[in-house]
Amino acid sequence: MQIHPQDIKKILQTYDHILLTAHVSPDGDAVGSVLALYGCLCQWGKHPVLVIDDEIEEKYKYLPAAAQIRKPQEVQTDASWLTVILDATDTARIGRTAALIKGKVLNIDHHISNRHFADWEYVLPAYAAAGEVLTELFLQWSVSITPEMADALYTAIATDCGFFKFGNTTAHTLRMAAAAVAAGARPARISESLEARDFADLTVLSEVLRHIERFADGRMAGIVFTPELLALTGDHTGSYIDYARIIKGVDVAFTVRYVTATETRLSLRSKHTDVNAIAAVFGGGGHIRAAGATVSGSLQETKEKLIKEIINAL
Ligand code: 5GP
Ligand code: MN
Ligand code: MN
Repeated sequence: MQIHPQDIKKILQTYDHILLTAHVSPDGDAVGSVLALYGCLCQWGKHPVLVIDDEIEEKYKYLPAAAQIRKPQEVQTDASWLTVILDATDTARIGRTAALIKGKVLNIDHHISNRHFADWEYVLPAYAAAGEVLTELFLQWSVSITPEMADALYTAIATDCGFFKFGNTTAHTLRMAAAAVAAGARPARISESLEARDFADLTVLSEVLRHIERFADGRMAGIVFTPELLALTGDHTGSYIDYARIIKGVDVAFTVRYVTATETRLSLRSKHTDVNAIAAVFGGGGHIRAAGATVSGSLQETKEKLIKEIINAL
């Protein structure tokens, strides 16, 4: 059930035990949203527990509260706990944290593919980031945004709209980012930490760029992360898709990544085509211009099926 901002505030203030979580393979929006809401709840005298079922990447270290994020197996809950799920469409997306849900669930999200699973939800698909939703809530609630919360909010907003370059960037997105900066967020410090690369990484990048393949008269480009390529890049391959996306003439960019012989991870970006619909064919979802899925199938068969689906959609 979609509820109003003031009801969200009342619900959060009612509970003594609150679990805050977000999706697996957390991105800047997942980490930033959890930490920003953590700051707000701490101000209200709460002691929320932060759980994400995956490692938090080193590059988010400038957000000191990231050190508070724990693994699901380190935490125990009961029916008196409220679970707040940020930046995720359904409980399958939070991995093993789902086992900690014993009581009510509040979902704050911005995915068009949201499954409307929660007891209470606040889902705004026109917003670029869960952090954009939260910034507006904090302003409506008259929360005083500390510099630490502001960094978290800016991280969430900026990363999900490709630092204000993607088609989901609106005047409202920029106004919420501006509110974060006015409250003390550090855009240069944040982009330096998130976009800076070790010199050695540039060699890896040049090898990845050589693996970009083009299809459909240049309207589609993709990268296949085989175990051999992954040995070079490591598992954090999320940023490479942008190099396929920015090629002139490319509408749909994709990556397919080997997970196991029978499991493949796919990511999609687009300038026009609805890639949420393509990801849905594979049991995933996301947004019109950015989506993903985890697929049962080998790397090669998933790649072939994906290329067919993209050609159909172009
Ligand atoms: P990425 O390609 O960065 O992993 O994901 C792009 C967008 O699609 C993100 O907003 C992400 O939350 C969403 N997404 C990625 N994988 C899945 C998935 O397996 N299921 C759903 N529902 N959404 C996904
Ligand atoms: Mn996310
Ligand atoms: Mn998001």
